[in-house]
Amino acid sequence: MTTVNELCSIIEQTWPAAGAESWDSIGLVVGHRRDTVTHVRLCVDVTPDVIADAHAAGADFLIAHHPLLLRGVTSIDEETYKGNSVALLIRHRIGLLTAHTNADVVSRGVSDSLARALELTDVEPIVAHPHSVGHSGIGRVGNLVTPTPLGVVARRIATILPATAAGVRVSGEYERLVSRVALCGGAGDSLLSEPQVRTADAYITSDLRHHPASEFREWAKSENGPALVDVSHWASEWVWLATAAHDLTERMPSVVFSVSDVRTDPWDFLVVQ
Ligand SMILES: [Zn+2]
Repeated sequence: MTTVNELCSIIEQTWPAAGAESWDSIGLVVGHRRDTVTHVRLCVDVTPDVIADAHAAGADFLIAHHPLLLRGVTSIDEETYKGNSVALLIRHRIGLLTAHTNADVVSRGVSDSLARALELTDVEPIVAHPHSVGHSGIGRVGNLVTPTPLGVVARRIATILPATAAGVRVSGEYERLVSRVALCGGAGDSLLSEPQVRTADAYITSDLRHHPASEFREWAKSENGPALVDVSHWASEWVWLATAAHDLTERMPSVVFSVSDVRTDPWDFLVVQ
């Protein structure tokens, strides 16, 4: 029987803790290292719906991308979302582990999975990780095999990502040709001033707010900078779960790794004007 402890060592090899940001909270959240593991479900966010789905699927462990508990916890009051989630996990005997920024930076991490889904070539990080070798670091930049109109690239992204209410939003002309694509799964507005982003033809990320996006758009107009493509945060990271399940299955063939398809994007519908 495989133990949580063995799973934790494989996870350390796959997404070393040294790759995590200092503010992050990663690793085992719920469970005992002596517990056994037969079926691991992967998800972006831990919510009661995700836990119910994992329980129904017979999973006894969850690997989540986003930390359920990131800041100081003083209560697991079950009337709160987080307290309820922790209690549900314990009652269902489902362990929980977080792989967050440590899973962003690795060579088969979150942004890298998106780059591969878009079939980019010569992929490298937007910002290389200071302590590691190879293709690790934040975000990815690479080339499309053939220059493609921006609108077609956006439609391709829409087919790669799971469906969400807000879909894919684009700042740039539909017909503009795109060869070099920068991307960052999850919130990527902190990378807007990076040279690898500014010299691309399009930058795909999530959670772009009005002011950074509008300032970038005006700069891009005058300097021929990249178009912006804003996608769902959850969807952009969900693509990585299949890569993670594949890589962990290769390392632990006796354990089942499956992907939760419960949508945890927070938006339910869009009114188009
Ligand atoms: Zn995220």
